[in-house]
Amino acid sequence: MIFGKTKAQAYDTAIYKCAADDLLAARKVEILFHALAAGVVMNGAHIDALLVETKSGRMAVRSNFFIDCSGDGDLASFAGAPFEIGDADGNMLYPTMMFRLNGVDPQMAGEAWKTIPALMDEAEKRGMRFPRKGAIVRPMKHETEWRVNVTQLKTGNGRAIDGTDARELSAGEIEGRRQALAFFEFLKANAPGFASSYVVDIPPQLGIRETRRIGGRYSLTRDDVISCASFDDTIGVNGWPIEAHVAGDVVWDWPDIPGSRGFNHLPYRMLLPLKIDNLLVAGRCASMTHEGQSAARVSGACFVMGEAAATAVHLALADDVDPTGVDVRQLQRTLSKNGVFLGMETA
Ligand SMILES: Cc1cc2nc3c(=O)[nH]c(=O)nc-3n(C[C@H](O)[C@H](O)[C@H](O)COP(=O)(O)OP(=O)(O)OC[C@H]3O[C@@H](n4cnc5c(N)ncnc54)[C@H](O)[C@@H]3O)c2cc1C
Repeated sequence: MIFGKTKAQAYDTAIYKCAADDLLAARKVEILFHALAAGVVMNGAHIDALLVETKSGRMAVRSNFFIDCSGDGDLASFAGAPFEIGDADGNMLYPTMMFRLNGVDPQMAGEAWKTIPALMDEAEKRGMRFPRKGAIVRPMKHETEWRVNVTQLKTGNGRAIDGTDARELSAGEIEGRRQALAFFEFLKANAPGFASSYVVDIPPQLGIRETRRIGGRYSLTRDDVISCASFDDTIGVNGWPIEAHVAGDVVWDWPDIPGSRGFNHLPYRMLLPLKIDNLLVAGRCASMTHEGQSAARVSGACFVMGEAAATAVHLALADDVDPTGVDVRQLQRTLSKNGVFLGMETA
């Protein structure tokens, strides 16, 4: 339990992949890995086919409905859906190259996430510089394995690396690995319990927090998060506060804890992009303002949106309607039956 009313669960990333394969195989989902969505064939406001580039050549994927879970809203933008990037000045949340350590002595490390920021402050007084404040250094499921979320990637002029720009992504990835190793050396030398640790994993890609946010029938806002808003068309909840990765720091803002219930509803309308009639968008590119997205971009809310989008498509196919014509009460009943917490029971 962290932040008073939010539960956080670290998981084993290798086993997670296997569990995801099993889940999809059990539902007879046909998977095509190693396929990069690169364009669309449109028929007015309707997506006729998604074009993908693969090792076996270019393919067209035809379907009645499409769900864009690319994080970047690639499909929605190819199709011509409206989108926004960043705040009013175009500033996006900064990306991070995370890494995992093993060989940490958990007894010596203790609650290191509380003491490491002070160690960083002391080191700064000695002239050391870190990419950002607000280091998140926490144990994984196995107590000797820890994750480190501390790097921050920017361009030469100081703005966030743009996750839709291939050149910036490449430069950010290299700089991210450099920053990861530099912080690892700092931990080894300064943090109790980390002297014998070693880097067990650096992700294959830079962690991007924000790129395109698709304009939909409703955009989740900062006020919705802070006021724990309710919506009639709830498809699940977000229990994460505002976590804004700004230049050199991480700025948090919470709903009233313990006074409030600690979560906001996510409305179905945030999955429905404007101007395209057979597309839903789920995940960090769904319809949210810059500040709303800095909360509901996290994985719990993304799971909720993904499940709701797929369930809505199932109902749309059965009823022969567009996603906007889905019976929302039936969607909610189906989600609830499948174990989704809609958050309607608490005021
Ligand atoms: C550094 C970092 C730390 C975080 N820590 C936490 C945390 O501790 N807890 C938490 O809950 N959340 C955390 N988050 C947030 C959370 O992980 C993400 O916001 C969330 O995973 C986004 O999910 P998504 O499905 O929308 O997008 P993604 O997870 O980005 O998935 C998008 C997928 O689409 C694929 N894709 C993209 N474009 C194309 C294309 N054109 N063709 C084919 N495939 C494509 C990508 O390869 C990717 O597999 C963190 C994020 C970052 C960056």
